[in-house]
Amino acid sequence: MTTATALATAATDDAPVLEGHDLIKTYEVSRGIFGKPGIVRAVSGISLSLAPRKTLAVVGESGSGKSTLGRMLALIEPPTDGRLAIAGEDVTGVYGHRLKTLRRSVQMVFQNPYGSLNPRRTIRATLEEPLVVNTDLAADERHARALDMLARVGLRPEHAERYPHMFSGGQRQRIAIARALMLNPRIIVLDEPVSALDVSVRAQVLNLLADLQQEFGLAFVFVSHDLSVVRHIADDVMVMYLGGVVEQAPKEAIFADPRHPYTRALLSATPVADPGRPRDRIVLTGELPSPFAPPPGCSFNPRCPMAIDRCRAEKPLLHGEDGRLTACHLAD
Ligand code: ATP
Ligand code: SF4
Repeated sequence: MTTATALATAATDDAPVLEGHDLIKTYEVSRGIFGKPGIVRAVSGISLSLAPRKTLAVVGESGSGKSTLGRMLALIEPPTDGRLAIAGEDVTGVYGHRLKTLRRSVQMVFQNPYGSLNPRRTIRATLEEPLVVNTDLAADERHARALDMLARVGLRPEHAERYPHMFSGGQRQRIAIARALMLNPRIIVLDEPVSALDVSVRAQVLNLLADLQQEFGLAFVFVSHDLSVVRHIADDVMVMYLGGVVEQAPKEAIFADPRHPYTRALLSATPVADPGRPRDRIVLTGELPSPFAPPPGCSFNPRCPMAIDRCRAEKPLLHGEDGRLTACHLAD
């Protein structure tokens, strides 16, 4: 199904709940008093489709555009160009009351739960706030919903009257997840949700997310730089480099047979689950190029160990079949 067809499709149980078509985000950035403002292309023509109960992991180095894509998908920032649909409804160019209603269906959870929870509010007030702003529920109904959600994320009723500083990092992230669920969203964008947590509690929070996903029929966009975490939770993986997608495929395909040299380099730096199958380490040299002046041809060519002349002249298109897409001249 093309994205255009999908945009017109009414939502069914396993119909895509989130679709992006050629999404672009640029920022105008000032470059000192005498410099002309520059344009940063943070996200450059990304398309995706995500069904309920599925997780799309978005991976890449710092600065590759993962968080910008996440904010667009969460309706926090509008795309500069392209189309975005939630449950078949095109949300591009939607404003006012309708946008406010649509925003309830997509929530975001951030890396640092302490920063995203108000330190002066009890957990109960924090959980009830979205209900106060968006619903007509009476106080006792809001209270009951908050306690119910606390239980679902593994916390106890007495935790409701406490403040964020009284919890561990893992518990705070559970509270942030509970708050994201208060308005019954269909999609959650999780931006590095376990990166700030101790390794010992990461698996617990990931397991909780997996349980909640099935219970509530949620679609997840999971932004992460950590491929060992992605291996745990993803259904599909999108690898970003300098604002664009270089490889996109089901998780099993990405981990068993990465086709893009950048994906291979990322994977080679990730600890292997099976030490009997050691991988050759590919060390990435150089830095991510400046987004003000991306290199001509393939944006990865200055760092690619396989680059040929064509790579410096011609941009490879994202292409492939059966959900396996790669942007590399040598991928075939
Ligand atoms: P990180 O993991 O460090 O958050 P990322 O992969 O999420 O990195 P983004 O934060 O999305 O990447 O940034 C992508 C590019 O867009 C970077 O070059 C960044 O400097 C630029 N950028 C992001 N937000 C803005 C903004 N509000 N104004 C100007 N430039 C921005
Ligand atoms: Fe490397 Fe060329 Fe493929 Fe780009 S197109 S990833 S430079 S081989």
